[in-house]
Amino acid sequence: MIKGKIVVGILPTYNLKNDDNDPYQDKASFVRMYEQMVVDSGAIPIGILNSDVKQYFDICDAYIWPGGRCIKKEFYKIFDDAIKNHKPFLGVCLGMQAMTTFLNIVEDRLSNKKLSINATYEANKDIKPYLFRLEENRINNHDHYVTKEIQTIESSKHRIKIKKGTIMERIYNEKEIRVPSLHTYVVARIPDSLVVSAKADDDIVEAVEYTRDGACMLGVQYHPELIKDHKIFDWLVEESYNKYKILINKEHSIPNDLKYKIIAYDSKCPSIDKRESLMEEAVYYAFLELKKAMKKKGYVIELQSGYRYTVDQEDLYNKVAEEKETEHANMYVAKPRHSEHETGLAIDICACIHGKWNFDSAEELNELYKYLHSIISDYGFILRYPKGKESITGYGYEPWHLRYVGSKKLAKYIMDNNLALEEVVNK
Ligand SMILES: [Zn+2]
Repeated sequence: MIKGKIVVGILPTYNLKNDDNDPYQDKASFVRMYEQMVVDSGAIPIGILNSDVKQYFDICDAYIWPGGRCIKKEFYKIFDDAIKNHKPFLGVCLGMQAMTTFLNIVEDRLSNKKLSINATYEANKDIKPYLFRLEENRINNHDHYVTKEIQTIESSKHRIKIKKGTIMERIYNEKEIRVPSLHTYVVARIPDSLVVSAKADDDIVEAVEYTRDGACMLGVQYHPELIKDHKIFDWLVEESYNKYKILINKEHSIPNDLKYKIIAYDSKCPSIDKRESLMEEAVYYAFLELKKAMKKKGYVIELQSGYRYTVDQEDLYNKVAEEKETEHANMYVAKPRHSEHETGLAIDICACIHGKWNFDSAEELNELYKYLHSIISDYGFILRYPKGKESITGYGYEPWHLRYVGSKKLAKYIMDNNLALEEVVNK
């Protein structure tokens, strides 16, 4: 993440020429088309220049392995990060072949098969048994090469059939689509862990996916960037927000392995406790933008309560239970380990009207709340406890309690349809 924006790491394209007399033969390039597609999907593209890829783990929320002529096995390490941390991955052409080869190697290692595990195919060597060249092993008439001329892209498109219940089906919502290809290798062996989600008419594998243990990796043999196929890049960016689509309520407590970056915020709200002037990093940047948008309409809002330590949530719950009744406390305050505030993704808003700070559902705030609720989805927020959803959320209406879900698309869907998060997440 950079200032609350999704960062997509793009691997370089290598074109080793095998010319020992050329001191520049080992060079990489970055294709502008991928960069542009990432920008169009609302994320920040960064080039992974160095093969010591671990350095990029903290920065990248998703990865693209594009086409090219040679796989550098050092880059296989990005699969560690993608799989372990559920970061979405998109492999295109050679990138799909790299993904397939990597998973073949892993499976062969696990089953102790004595196959060649040196799958680096610099200069197109050592790739068997995982891939084979099209010219040598042509299946029927797989003749949909694309020449690198823009005029021929359209005529070179071929049909691929999409399997039901796959990521591919969710992305395109079609049984078949027409796509352009440009490749000399095809995947020869599919590891058990991979699902083939699309095939061409000649049976060549056109898309594979890996979704074990929450992983989210897709490889396509065709070239979506050539036809400005935004759907697949939108999917990549959208999936990057998954870590914010977490459900915390009376039934679902805070997972122990939660890893959000909590940062300090300088709230001008007079009643705020210093310890509550904290937010998750992406929430911080989204809130600054929301505050600015409210100011434009003449409304002054501030943070009343952000990230809460579990001990503070415990104190708060006990205090309310003591002052009012346990029943009231249960309706408005979460028990420790069950508050969204303990994630840093929830914020309570206070507002300054005629020089007086307000924090409740006072009549004079109605107009402000109405406007606030009409724009929060543009910043990735939802109203977490809407009116009429008390039986689903377990809480009374809280116009001040906003919850960050990251994805503007999801936030808009929830707000437009007046839904509770429970009705969307885990469904
Ligand atoms: Zn709250």
